[in-house]
Amino acid sequence: MSRERLRTDFQFAVLVLFCTVALAGVTPFVIYRYVVGDVVLGVIDTAIVAALAGTLLYVWRGGDAAPASLFIVVTTTIGCLVVARMVGMSGALWSYPAIAAGFLLIRRTRALLAASLLILLLALDGGAFPSELARLMYFSSASVTCLLAFVFARHTALQRAQLEALASRDPLTGAANRRAMARELHIAAETARRHRAPVGLLVMDLDHFKRVNDALGHEAGDSVLVDFARLVQSHCRAGDRLFRYGGEEFVLLVPGSDANDLRPLADSLRRAVSAALRSPCGPITVSVGGAVLRADEDNQQWLARADAAMYEAKHQGRDRVVVDG
Ligand code: GH3
Ligand code: MG
Ligand code: MG
Repeated sequence: MSRERLRTDFQFAVLVLFCTVALAGVTPFVIYRYVVGDVVLGVIDTAIVAALAGTLLYVWRGGDAAPASLFIVVTTTIGCLVVARMVGMSGALWSYPAIAAGFLLIRRTRALLAASLLILLLALDGGAFPSELARLMYFSSASVTCLLAFVFARHTALQRAQLEALASRDPLTGAANRRAMARELHIAAETARRHRAPVGLLVMDLDHFKRVNDALGHEAGDSVLVDFARLVQSHCRAGDRLFRYGGEEFVLLVPGSDANDLRPLADSLRRAVSAALRSPCGPITVSVGGAVLRADEDNQQWLARADAAMYEAKHQGRDRVVVDG
């Protein structure tokens, strides 16, 4: 479970990596402090190690990585301040990895705030540095590190957002893909349960689409799919979400809709398709199945009911709507 999470949850993976590496880096100093009899620093380092190990254990057992990350950034920032105050310049060196890690672990504006506070407090206090020049050099080098980490974090966040958008969209129609559908159905179902609101689902399958391909070629078929997705999206409300479920099969998620809302919506979509989409073989039509989420079912069962309703619409002669229940 947690191993799988390492692959799929970026924040969890970074937090586990940081805690593990920091534990490996700080633990030898704990031993060293006690060996040379420096109990005060030994206790401080022990507290830092305990915070790292406790956080690691918490998230590994399924804890939320976001508050844990914030906790680690606050702890390491305070730890750096205390250690630098007590051991001087060599302690201030820990602020560099702490600054860099902050930008990987938490929102970059918060990380910028934590890093700026750390640098300013260390530089203004001055107690950690043997000379004015050393203080100035620390201030400049730590500020450059902070700036570079900020720019890097901004750049990677942008790239990740672009990659996520690419990975969750069907390249032909621009509708969200099946991968995104599983995630969004889950969120919509949870939200509906929490607010005791209805949520509906439409499964739409183009009728005799194979004939369109056979008569006009695959490319013309593709452009019908593009037109279909565009038409459905132009008929949707802002909160509705269209997914390409399979080849010529689409799913529309309709939050806030019960069966009484779903039927007229499905029917107006069906009519809009047959009125607007044409091919030399005649009008393009669609069969639509609908289902409203029940309290006692999971998303698979919900989707299966909508799918079964769509097949029922096919059996009844196509170009029609069947809403389950
Ligand atoms: P039915 O009314 O029973 O749904 O008939 P159908 O012909 O639509 O259904 P069937 O499942 O037999 O065929 C689906 C066709 O959709 C077959 C396939 O060639 C076509 N198709 C699937 N994906 C694409 C695509 O990306 N582009 C194009 N052009 N055609 C596709
Ligand atoms: Mg079909
Ligand atoms: Mg089909």
